[in-house]
Amino acid sequence: MAIPKFGRLTNPMENILEEIDLTAKLGFDFVEIGIEGPGGDPKVLIRNKNKILRVIRDNNLFAIGHTSWWFELGSTYESVRRGWVEEGKRIIMTSKELEINLINFHTHSIGLFMDIPSARKEVLDNYVKSMKELVDYGKSLGVKVMLENAAERREICDLADVKHIIDRVRGLGFHLDVGHAYIQGGMKGVMDYIRVLSPKLWHVHMHDNHGYEDEHLPIGSGKIQFGKIVSALKKIGYDKTITPEVFGKTPGSAQRSMKKLKKLWVRK
Ligand SMILES: [Zn+2]
Repeated sequence: MAIPKFGRLTNPMENILEEIDLTAKLGFDFVEIGIEGPGGDPKVLIRNKNKILRVIRDNNLFAIGHTSWWFELGSTYESVRRGWVEEGKRIIMTSKELEINLINFHTHSIGLFMDIPSARKEVLDNYVKSMKELVDYGKSLGVKVMLENAAERREICDLADVKHIIDRVRGLGFHLDVGHAYIQGGMKGVMDYIRVLSPKLWHVHMHDNHGYEDEHLPIGSGKIQFGKIVSALKKIGYDKTITPEVFGKTPGSAQRSMKKLKKLWVRK
């Protein structure tokens, strides 16, 4: 049985080189680089390119990319949407420079649009348009693009809406955030995401919460039944990458979460 690789998301508030080094010291297989300011802004990463590549190589890691969640790729303000698409391209180009070949974007939306059917359609159509452009751009540089389900009620967090976008963009992968799916629909919501989008599932974020707020707690500190989720992922033969996206006070909490998840994975 293949076990997925486990990674750690870098904290964009900290020094990127130290963050990568720490990820290796904690025993992770890969580093998920937060390509967002201030510490992970593309210009900071490009300036440190050779050092970043060296610290990844010296520690036997590989890297994937993570963008900030507030990208407004579905904005109904066209100049705003265009601006975010251009920033997305800049991040994809940065990924290529850092030898990252997989990057995520989130299904974010801001304002009241998702509450009104006609506005909701416009946001979703815009998302499809933006993601097509980013996937094609990524393809030209050898960087694959995936979409992560958001958490908040006024964002794009319904399975049907996320599926609507993914179904319409050839080459776009799905990045499941378990904590976000749980807030949206409880355990059934998480299981539905795995069942419906498993053929496109490329990456998973795992963190705990109590079903209301996006707390990003260590595994076992909230109400999510991770044993059931691991069983469902094993059943579909998932063996790609998992990041315990835990925002603990110390980096050790992500490491402890990884150990718990690995234990769940190898049990019968
Ligand atoms: Zn996430």
